[in-house]
Amino acid sequence: MSLGEALVTLRRARAMTQVSLADVAGVTQAALSRYENGLRDPTPPIVEALASALGVTPDFLLSAGRTQGAFMMDAHMRRRRTAKPTVWRRLEARLNVYRMHLDLLLQEVEVEPELALPRLDPLEFAPEDAARLVRMQWRMPAGPVRDLTGWLESAGCVVVAEDFGLMTGGGRVDGLSQWATNAPVVLVNSRAPTDRLRLTLAHELGHVCLHSDELGNDPEDEANAFAAEFLMPAEVIRPELRNLSLGKLHGLKRYWGVSMQALIERAYHLGTIATRQRTGFYKALSARGWRTKEPLSDELAPERPRLVDRLGQALLERGLSSDEVAAIAGAAGGRDYPDFLPRPLLTAV
Ligand SMILES: [Zn+2]
Repeated sequence: MSLGEALVTLRRARAMTQVSLADVAGVTQAALSRYENGLRDPTPPIVEALASALGVTPDFLLSAGRTQGAFMMDAHMRRRRTAKPTVWRRLEARLNVYRMHLDLLLQEVEVEPELALPRLDPLEFAPEDAARLVRMQWRMPAGPVRDLTGWLESAGCVVVAEDFGLMTGGGRVDGLSQWATNAPVVLVNSRAPTDRLRLTLAHELGHVCLHSDELGNDPEDEANAFAAEFLMPAEVIRPELRNLSLGKLHGLKRYWGVSMQALIERAYHLGTIATRQRTGFYKALSARGWRTKEPLSDELAPERPRLVDRLGQALLERGLSSDEVAAIAGAAGGRDYPDFLPRPLLTAV
């Protein structure tokens, strides 16, 4: 794809306007507009200035502009209907840039996943069956999923947690995913409560397994159904969802690591509560202000990604300096573009 497209994506990822990027890079906005639209090619010194302003190496910028196929790939995204296009486009751009950095790091450090990540045809597999199959293949214990991030990473799925809340309206997007060259990358909102984060991770895992080649009939519903069965297997949880009460929901949330709302929906879906009871539970949650902020979320074991840090650590242990590793990843020294880099590099910088 074109250098212009790479410029637009990187600029979007950094939430810069044409004016602000032109200003930092020392070019006119008119000139930048022509570079972005492919009407003119920047000279090598200007490429250097633009790359530096965008926090990447000139090589990264040029190779991004030479990538086969689209540089910007569509991501599956879990977001509310009210999420602003500027916000989710920015997140999508970040995921794309992150994927490129990661591809470069993965060329240096080979990651041999312990678990296989099944890619299933959604027209052949019901999402619930797909979830059961993954659990079975991974030989997961029958009950709640502990450390979901750890399971995903063991299957070679790269999880990046970022605070979307720093961006206006970022809280309306929970997570997004797409396949990099060899591994899927999942970007999640670290500001979300743990129970919500876990549901997002399971939802994105559903996309990764079911929708890598074929979108199916309704990818969002399918990913939701996958997540529900993956985190709350019908066979095990159904008896626990009988004679449901608010107090019981508390205990179940603590045990299963999912929100009370997800448990209510699960109970309704599995037929252990009727429509009237479901409405009653939601009224009870509303009355306590729990529809917007549920209790107990802070007490759940946090989900922490570790794979990206391990990648950086492996390179540092080879005796490379953090600047050298940053350069391998195509990042300009990491001074101002830290969120795409493994944490050990940042502490070493
Ligand atoms: Zn989705």
